[in-house]
Amino acid sequence: MTSARIMAVIKAEAYGHGLLHSADALNDADGFALLDLSDAVSLREAGFRQTILLLEGFFSADELPRMAEYEIASVIHSPQQIAMLDAYPRRAALDVWLKVNTGMNRLGFAAHELSVAMEKLKAHPAVRDITLMTHFSHADEAAGVTAQMEKFNLQVAPYRLARSLANSAALLRYPATHADWVRPGIMLYGSSPFPEVSAQQLGLQPVMTLQSEIIAVRDLEAGESISYGGMFSAEYSMRIGVVACGYADGYPRHAPSGTPILVDGRRTRILGRITMDMLCIDLSAHAAAKVGSTVTLWGEGLPVEEVAQAAGTISYELLCAMARRVPVIAR
Ligand SMILES: *Cc1c(COP(=O)(O)O)cnc(C)c1O
Repeated sequence: MTSARIMAVIKAEAYGHGLLHSADALNDADGFALLDLSDAVSLREAGFRQTILLLEGFFSADELPRMAEYEIASVIHSPQQIAMLDAYPRRAALDVWLKVNTGMNRLGFAAHELSVAMEKLKAHPAVRDITLMTHFSHADEAAGVTAQMEKFNLQVAPYRLARSLANSAALLRYPATHADWVRPGIMLYGSSPFPEVSAQQLGLQPVMTLQSEIIAVRDLEAGESISYGGMFSAEYSMRIGVVACGYADGYPRHAPSGTPILVDGRRTRILGRITMDMLCIDLSAHAAAKVGSTVTLWGEGLPVEEVAQAAGTISYELLCAMARRVPVIAR
């Protein structure tokens, strides 16, 4: 698919999938990118020898000795970070990824700051290798990447250094962005980065399936309501199931009545407000469902994108919000 090296993005506990066993599963990647130095160190201590990159770099000069000791590469996105490097005891072999702002307008050096930053880093005794990177703001939308890609290529043209631009959306849709390193995140977990293209259409399979079970079943008469605030009232007599999963598990509280959910592999819908530990589903057409029946909140048979869309968010947020209390069974 690409001849670029692959920097697997495993920030946010590998998008909620768990850091170390996700890294194991992604062991063919050429590198790992994440946020926390302590996570990076735990990857090294677990034996991973790939490039490990901190996507926001260091936050204080105190972190630099540990980064050098464990060979952790750093994004450098600001003049303040270069000043911290200056305060660092010299002779370090730090690999840096110099971030160029091409329109995301979050992190990175502006066009007019780039050459000064570059000269400083090139001459810096603490710096070994420099990679140039940028991040796209519209790779998943119609606006695409062209403007940012052209800006980046123009700005970095004077430098013969490795380059990295692509997130999942750019990797899948714009081969011209692949350069030396691609940085896929969401697609590694089997979810689509595009609002209008499903994971299935992209040939991606969900990695996470969130399941629970029915812990109570009851009948409602017409007019009776369910859960806090009575957001849903039965229009006719109904059978409902109570599922042991709520927003403290990471299920979105904003998912409205009607959000799809599976019971014993068959589709039904959520009714009433999601609570901390439980939610309610419609069993009126599911006569066989009972206490103990398996409920799939998303994953196999129910794309997380569909649940995210019903709840007014994106799959990234649902996956990352997976709570620590949810037991993980690695397959
Ligand atoms: C999160 C992130 C990625 C991965 O993005 P996806 O859309 O999940 O593929 C790539 N690069 C940077 C800088 C990121 O912060």
